Amino acid sequence: MEKLKEECGVFGIISPETKTVGNITYFGLYALQHRGQESCGIAVSEGGHIRSFKNTGLVSEVFNENILSTLQGKIAIGHVRYSTSGGKMSVENAQPLVMDFRFGNLALAHNGNITNSDKLKKELESQGAIFKSDSDSEVLVHLIARSKKDNFTQALIEGLNRLEGAFSIVIINNGNLYALKDKNSIRPLCIGTLRKKIVFSSESCALDMIGAKLIRELKPGEVIKSDIKGDYESFFYTEETEKNLCSFEYIYFARPDSEIFEKSVHKIRKSFGAKLSERSDVKGDVVIPVPDSGISAALGFSEASKIPYDKGIIRNHYIGRTFIQPAQELRDMKVKMKLNPVPDVVRGKKVIVIDDSIVRGTTSRKIVRLLRNAGAKEIHFKVSSPMILSSCSLGIDTPNDNELIANTMDLERLTKELEADSLQFLTTEDLKECISGKEHCMRCFLKKGEKYAKDL
Ligand code: SF4
Repeated sequence: MEKLKEECGVFGIISPETKTVGNITYFGLYALQHRGQESCGIAVSEGGHIRSFKNTGLVSEVFNENILSTLQGKIAIGHVRYSTSGGKMSVENAQPLVMDFRFGNLALAHNGNITNSDKLKKELESQGAIFKSDSDSEVLVHLIARSKKDNFTQALIEGLNRLEGAFSIVIINNGNLYALKDKNSIRPLCIGTLRKKIVFSSESCALDMIGAKLIRELKPGEVIKSDIKGDYESFFYTEETEKNLCSFEYIYFARPDSEIFEKSVHKIRKSFGAKLSERSDVKGDVVIPVPDSGISAALGFSEASKIPYDKGIIRNHYIGRTFIQPAQELRDMKVKMKLNPVPDVVRGKKVIVIDDSIVRGTTSRKIVRLLRNAGAKEIHFKVSSPMILSSCSLGIDTPNDNELIANTMDLERLTKELEADSLQFLTTEDLKECISGKEHCMRCFLKKGEKYAKDL
């Protein structure tokens, strides 16, 4: 793993007018594909019935015109998935989850990680619940089903109050579309409108994709219940709320054309680059990004430092799965399949290269070697996030602490390890300043056991 991996993306839409919500959700999922590439699915409700289709693969591989023609209705939710807690890549673990129970039918899609799901699962199984998937999201469905409350909304509130961790969820139940967030608002989820339709999405880029207007980000602990007339009401499942937004959404996960937690991702990434430049004493000749996630920060660095920006590395966007080659020569070719330097941009120059984060460090070293072989005179590696020092338990797939390279050595050794002439990370103070840090989770930048002001 060379980058931390986002777990999922969710999308939901309810329409008083057209029955094409399945097709609109398909477009929405296309825009959210970067949040999960293992599996995807769409569930549509029409006349009290829910139809769904899900499978492993990319949105473009799973859906076609025939499948979408069966997904006609006025309420839809969709999901793209990268699994962390939910075990292997399989169609059973793909979402939306669809079930019939005493509150009618239900479809649910979840982004996040319910940290007490094992405990709750054991408790529910001891009461006779049978789980269909490894997914932690199914716990909520069973909690709702077993609630003694006499309506769905009350049962949902009761179930949500039992959950710990990160969850941004969309649910269809009996002609209503619900969208909700955990009490710390860890993962993003926003609401928008498309004419009379109400739309929810993990990121605003999916609203842009379908021509919807962003209204706002959901608040911590907020539940929005929308109906087929195009009306919606908001309430909170708990009063004990405190913002703890995942700062990695700004660093890497979200698309730069999204507004996350009501801030432009591109603008925030540019401010990371500007901060790196403020603390840099390197007189470079050219600033280049590691594409694509380093682009905004590299632009910010270049603008602040007045060192020209250029494309020194080209990313090939058309790579599917590749076989791991045992021979070194073939492994080197594999790196170049993804990233290839532009010799004319870097030859004979002091190159400042900007990447968003370093996890295991293997790709960073390969990038340094590629640039060196292309003729760069000096390579100064700048990282637009602080050092990742511990793994995340809130829905992000992170290697063990001892595999996180910055956790295992000091800056001097790390610089040598990457074979760079210098190495600089964003400081946690600068990160806080750029994103109003008091409201954000930054726990992966702290050593295990280090005091964190807002431990969950
Ligand atoms: S620990 Fe890191 S990756 Fe996990 S939620 Fe917090 S900031 Fe995000």
